[in-house]
Amino acid sequence: MIPFNKPYLSGNELAYIEDAVARGKLSGNGYYSQRCQAFFETTYGFKKTLLTTSCTDALEMAAILLDIQPGDEVIMPSYTFVSTANAFVLRGANIVFCDSRQDHPGMDESMIESLITSKTKAIVVVHYAGVACDMDVVMSLASTYDLFVVEDAAQGIDSLYKGKPLGGIGHLGTFSFHETKNLQCGEGGLLIINDERFVARAEVIWEKGTNRSAFFRGEIDKYGWVDIGSSFLPSELNAAYLFAQLESLPKIQQERKAIWTNYYKSLQVWAKQQDIKLPYLPDFATNNAHLFYMICTSEAQRTSLIKHLKDNKVHAVFHYISLHSSPFFKNQYLGAPLHQSDSYTRTLVRLPLYYELNIDAVTSSLLTYGR
Ligand SMILES: *Cc1c(COP(=O)(O)O)cnc(C)c1O
Repeated sequence: MIPFNKPYLSGNELAYIEDAVARGKLSGNGYYSQRCQAFFETTYGFKKTLLTTSCTDALEMAAILLDIQPGDEVIMPSYTFVSTANAFVLRGANIVFCDSRQDHPGMDESMIESLITSKTKAIVVVHYAGVACDMDVVMSLASTYDLFVVEDAAQGIDSLYKGKPLGGIGHLGTFSFHETKNLQCGEGGLLIINDERFVARAEVIWEKGTNRSAFFRGEIDKYGWVDIGSSFLPSELNAAYLFAQLESLPKIQQERKAIWTNYYKSLQVWAKQQDIKLPYLPDFATNNAHLFYMICTSEAQRTSLIKHLKDNKVHAVFHYISLHSSPFFKNQYLGAPLHQSDSYTRTLVRLPLYYELNIDAVTSSLLTYGR
């Protein structure tokens, strides 16, 4: 069976973990955490980054930093992973769901303005498949209506919007290093702080609501409880593992992009015959080859396609159940129907995409579908 995902291994992970152990400090914010953060700050020019135990945690930190209060409204796509919404629901926010674009599962930027009210506090964009949302539109709405923008760039590492790295455009951004993402350490994430106003408080929230980070830099002579917070920082074991992945970033990206392009080229003619849509890339976005998806004509076609692949020993999957129609949310959803989002829920399928993938086995199975 060709699995849907296989986490990448650079080969240096265990050596770095061994080194972290030898250094004798395994709790968070140590040597490897700082090296990882420095990597992101120098490679992408992010003002300040903090490693977290997941992207979910980074999003929860973002919600605390924006001081989201019960009753505040937060606009986000419905076609996304549950953590995008949960982080804000935990602070008591009312989630206002936006539909997806017709040409892409990312959020329909043209719909955002109609969802803004006097209670709106923030817009959370999701760069689906690592393909940027039209951030000029989003940032200009944010400045007109005085809103904050969080980029859920869980899938967006090393991808650009008009030349700018994703995660570095909104007030705050987040990455994921879950084992299904391009770079991984099992579970891990990053909070990107682009707005200077949030830097000091972010460090406090990260360190259980204490000013311990400033203490370790020698800026204060004792540390204590100064704000709310939690234990959002990963151990050095995770950071050491992640650092090995960061060193391989160009190699990983080159291989993933080659696989993605191979899929696109091999499937073009066949997809047209089956009336299946291949991914669309807007002019303003680059492709970081996070995932390769296809849009089927119906749910029935998708089911039969996944079954055909399974019979040929290839594991393909679908996602997301739109959050507005999830068991948790559907009874409280008061907004308009979200037709595009519902349609992606029924028809989108993802193909295996990982460094060691034998892509010919997948494409040759696919090309026999419908014949
Ligand atoms: C993967 C993902 C997350 C969650 O990341 P974790 O690191 O698993 O918490 C959040 N949002 C999106 C869009 C994702 O794809």
